[in-house]
Amino acid sequence: MDTLQRTLVLLKPDALERGIVGEIITRFERVGAKMIGMKLLVSEKDTALQHYTEDLARRRGERVRELMVAMLTSGPIVAIAFEGIEIVEVVRKMIGSTEPKSAAPGTIRGDYAHVSFKHADSLNVGIFNLVHASGSPEEAETEIDVWFKPEELVAFT
Ligand code: UDP
Ligand code: MG
Repeated sequence: MDTLQRTLVLLKPDALERGIVGEIITRFERVGAKMIGMKLLVSEKDTALQHYTEDLARRRGERVRELMVAMLTSGPIVAIAFEGIEIVEVVRKMIGSTEPKSAAPGTIRGDYAHVSFKHADSLNVGIFNLVHASGSPEEAETEIDVWFKPEELVAFT
C-alpha cells in the first residue's frame, strides 16, 4: 500500500458565505497536510456534474445529486489538493460525518454546523455541511483531475 496520498477538499459555497475559509484551512495546516494546489472559482454545471458523479445518484438518489450540483454552482468555492501520509482517511476524520447533526464535536462539520437530514429534506435542499473531501485514494485522483490541470499543482520538497 502506498502511504503517501493526495486528497481533494472543496470548501463549498456555505463556507465562503460564512467567512470561515481561513479557519478551515488552518485546521488542515495544523495536522501538517501539505497544500499542493488551491484555487477560488465559480463552478460550471458540467464540472459539478463530473464531481458529483452517477455514483452519488446511485448511493443517495438522483434528487440529492441534482441538489448538490445546484448547491455547488450557487456561489464561489475553494478547491484544495492536499498531500500527506494516508491523508484521505485523516481528512475524512477531520471533516466528520455527512450529517452535521451527527458529526462529532471537534470535526469541521460538527464544530461549524448542526443541521439534520430531516430538516434539509423537509425544505428539499442539499445539506449544508461546508466541506467535501475525497472518500478513497482512487476517488481523490479522479477528483483532483476534475478541478486541477497538472500544471496547477505545485511540487516542491
Ligand atoms: N447530501 C444531501 N442529502 C443527503 C445526502 C447527501 O444533501 O441525504 C449532500 C451532502 O452535502 C453531502 C453530499 O451530498 O456532503 C455528498 O454526499 P456523500 O454521501 O458523498 O457525503 P460526504 O462524502 O460529503 O460526507
Ligand atoms: Mg462523498
